[in-house]
Amino acid sequence: MKIVNPATGEPLRSIDEDTQSSIAQKLERARRAQREWRNSDLSMRKAALRAFSKLIEAEQAELAQTLTLEVGKPITQSHNELNSFRKRIEFFADHFEVALAPEVVARAADLEEVIAHEPLGVVGNISAWNYPYFVGGNVILPALLTGNAVLYKPSELATLTGLEVVRLLHCAGIPQDCLAVVVGGAAVGKLLCEQPLNGLFFTGSVPTGRAVARAAAERLIPVGLELGGKDPAYAAQDVDVPRAAAALADGAFYNTGQSCCAVERVYVHQSIYDRFVEAFVAEVQKLRLGDPLDSATTLGPLARGEAQLAHLEQQVGDARAKGARVLAGGKRAARPGFFFEPTVLVDVDHSMQVMRDETFGPVIGLMSVASDEAALELMNDTDYGLTAAVYTSDAARAQRLLAELDVGSAYWNCCDRVSPALPWSGRRNSGLGTTLSTYGIEAFTQPKAWHKRLV
Ligand code: NAD
Repeated sequence: MKIVNPATGEPLRSIDEDTQSSIAQKLERARRAQREWRNSDLSMRKAALRAFSKLIEAEQAELAQTLTLEVGKPITQSHNELNSFRKRIEFFADHFEVALAPEVVARAADLEEVIAHEPLGVVGNISAWNYPYFVGGNVILPALLTGNAVLYKPSELATLTGLEVVRLLHCAGIPQDCLAVVVGGAAVGKLLCEQPLNGLFFTGSVPTGRAVARAAAERLIPVGLELGGKDPAYAAQDVDVPRAAAALADGAFYNTGQSCCAVERVYVHQSIYDRFVEAFVAEVQKLRLGDPLDSATTLGPLARGEAQLAHLEQQVGDARAKGARVLAGGKRAARPGFFFEPTVLVDVDHSMQVMRDETFGPVIGLMSVASDEAALELMNDTDYGLTAAVYTSDAARAQRLLAELDVGSAYWNCCDRVSPALPWSGRRNSGLGTTLSTYGIEAFTQPKAWHKRLV
């Protein structure tokens, strides 16, 4: 498998993919190792995680560079991901023991009833590339801490980063066979899904998520799916316009728009619409497209390469054909690699793909609305349900609007934000199950009911 630098289109490295038999061997070894690991000392697991965090800190410059080279993430944003990743590690290390503590739910003279929390066994983690430390870690870390073994398939677009995660966890004290990396693309992911695993945890697109869920259904094993989004934001008439425009432009274009929770469509109250559009475009013009290794760059290339450029051209072309106007960008950047200019569309509506299908790139549509109710209706007009944001200075208004949205995360005066302490989950096409928070730790355990007759 060739690994390509999306900033240049040049190959970085070649690497051997796993096969059916190599995956089966890794599973067999993981199965044996997990029997011991599940009984290992919890303080030792916690110490390994803390050592992992220290190793990341020590090697941060090289790790950030690897991520930027293979994914194209601007280097300052690669550092941001690593800094925040260490906070997630801390959260998991601080909270996993509670998820494993047995609960005595009834105690009489002759009978005790106890809920024990056991690991699932060996789980598969099939991951995306856009935040490879976050999305890989959201599964690997709580799964290992709760006594599971993991077969981890990083995205083929973030393989080098995935290999680094595994190397550092092994260095930190996680037994070699408890965490194995599976290298390859879609075909290898499919082979992994066919193995007799005890759980499948996936981050990626909706069609692949469905395929993973079907594979899990065949074995009746738990499945977790973190899928795409078409996340809306609404700016009401009482906002500080320049501030809201700056925050929403950042939410739309951070990581070059390749975030599951990126702002993908913005509704603006008609009374502030013109001022908002002007302020938003001014923010977009401040973005610096360029070499992602340069710390001044804020907009990098598209990791998915040519296919993603074609996808963005298709969405912009469709919008234009239906009457949208392009206020900024609108085309590929004239330079090597896979770059698209930051693009702002107005006069958009819901007949256009750009307002309905996930964009996953630096393209945004801004739409004027006459009222909160109109904004609400449009925000809810989607098959996705990951996040939604409302900007207003009125808390009650935000509360009322956000309560009506069928999403996993509701943002008031903020957007494109993830906290390790809060559950991360998508509704409808955006996914199934939860990562992060204590829910995202419990997801890797199963309850056992103990009925203990004492006499
Ligand atoms: P993708 O679906 O193309 O690939 C994801 C993973 O699945 C990769 O490792 C890939 O090799 C593997 N794969 C592909 N086909 C497979 C198959 N048939 N069986 C098993 N595995 C298979 O998605 P992507 O391009 O890597 O990621 C981008 C998507 O991920 C976007 O839609 C984004 O919104 C979503 N995402 C969601 C979250 C979240 O937390 N909800 C986080 C990050 C990314």
